[in-house]
Amino acid sequence: MKIVVVGYGPGGANAAFMARIFDPNVEVTIITQEEVEAHRKPGASMALEFPESSDLLIGDWSYAKLKERGVNILPGVKVLSGDVSTKVLEIEDSRGKKSKIEYDKLILATGGIPSVPDLPGTDLEGVFTISDMIDAKKIGEKLSGLNKIIIVGAGFSGLETAERLMTLGKEVHIIIRSRLMRRLLEEPMSLELQSRIPKDIILHIGRSPTAVLGDERVTGIALDGDEIEADAVLFMTGVRPNKKLAKSLGLEIGSRGGVKVNSVMQTSNKDIYAVGDCVELIDSMTGKPSLLPIGSAAARAGMQAGVIAVGRNRQYENIGLRLQYDRIFNTDIICVGQSSTTAADADIETEIHYSEDPAEYLKVALLTTKDGTLIGGQVLASRMGGRVAYQIMERVQSGANLKDRPLLQPRHKRLREHLEEMLGPIQ
Ligand SMILES: Cc1cc2nc3c(=O)[nH]c(=O)nc-3n(C[C@H](O)[C@H](O)[C@H](O)COP(=O)(O)OP(=O)(O)OC[C@H]3O[C@@H](n4cnc5c(N)ncnc54)[C@H](O)[C@@H]3O)c2cc1C
Repeated sequence: MKIVVVGYGPGGANAAFMARIFDPNVEVTIITQEEVEAHRKPGASMALEFPESSDLLIGDWSYAKLKERGVNILPGVKVLSGDVSTKVLEIEDSRGKKSKIEYDKLILATGGIPSVPDLPGTDLEGVFTISDMIDAKKIGEKLSGLNKIIIVGAGFSGLETAERLMTLGKEVHIIIRSRLMRRLLEEPMSLELQSRIPKDIILHIGRSPTAVLGDERVTGIALDGDEIEADAVLFMTGVRPNKKLAKSLGLEIGSRGGVKVNSVMQTSNKDIYAVGDCVELIDSMTGKPSLLPIGSAAARAGMQAGVIAVGRNRQYENIGLRLQYDRIFNTDIICVGQSSTTAADADIETEIHYSEDPAEYLKVALLTTKDGTLIGGQVLASRMGGRVAYQIMERVQSGANLKDRPLLQPRHKRLREHLEEMLGPIQ
């Protein structure tokens, strides 16, 4: 059997490996239009400062590791179209040479594309988005002689990029429509995070850009009635599903704009699966379609598709459970499961429980349903936020009631012993 995987991010790589693990006889080929070995997108802004660093490469998915695991890869190759009746894809290599490739099962992991607001001037020179380290490398070169940079958007990648540009000595402005990480953090947590941002970074909170200004090159940005000068503008305003190929194959697209899949990642065509940022998942808690463009969900969905594509019956749980972690401005920022905003979208009434550790910087928000079931949590910590997030994750996954299983304090003896068993001595 021949499995073709389109995409070499967490979705595609995990799908390919799982297919080979569960059926060592299957022929698996990854096709990717990128010409570099697998690399992490979280932290991609690092390449603004260190373009030659190999720290972002993912050794476990290198070409050598793929070969070791019996997975073929065609880098620098784009899938242009396909015929689902004959199961043939048309592909084009980086020199423009076209050819065809057959599949028995196809797994699409084509990712997302940066979502830039529809404003005048976004096509000017000096307006950028960062999707990966390749973008960051190119943009880093262009920014070297520029000083005043505006970032639009304050999600994980916007804040990460702001921190990096600040360390490069740039004057950084962030434009934030409502508040920091509005969909992911409760308001008091947003304000907490805001207090961790160095004063050198200028925040424009509650403002929306109305146009990017300039003739050929960007000179600034207009904000409802106001203007800020700038040498460059970075839009870090999220991604939308890259469904171009799926649409050309005639696959059904869902109400949120992603490729429609069932609980095992099968699309409207029984021989085609789709995973990662290009799909809309069914949220396990709300039962509603949702976009979840994060690496951990792509990886879990990829594993699921790989296993099912080779005919195994195994079903993974919690594919659509949010787990996002980053360390920015000396703060661990961790979001698990629902926030009150995402829960409200699904008509779930929540209660929010805040706590903190008086001895060190640790702020926690826990989300429960009215009956006390834990459905999400947020952690801000000066260090080792994972100690608390681990407990939240475990309780959310098991559907625990917070009254029966409250979180242990970070310095609780039993938790400490458990963690030290796993991680070694904790200072
Ligand atoms: C700057 C940045 C920071 C991020 N930080 C975090 C974070 O902290 N935590 C987190 O969980 N997530 C983070 N994410 C999101 C995470 O990186 C994505 O959710 C994840 O990479 C999605 O994986 P994927 O497998 O769906 O696709 P991607 O990793 O986007 O890969 C898409 C693949 O499809 C290929 N492709 C697309 N179309 C074609 C075609 N027609 N022919 C051939 N190849 C094609 C591309 O070459 C690529 O290999 C971040 C993303 C960015 C951009």
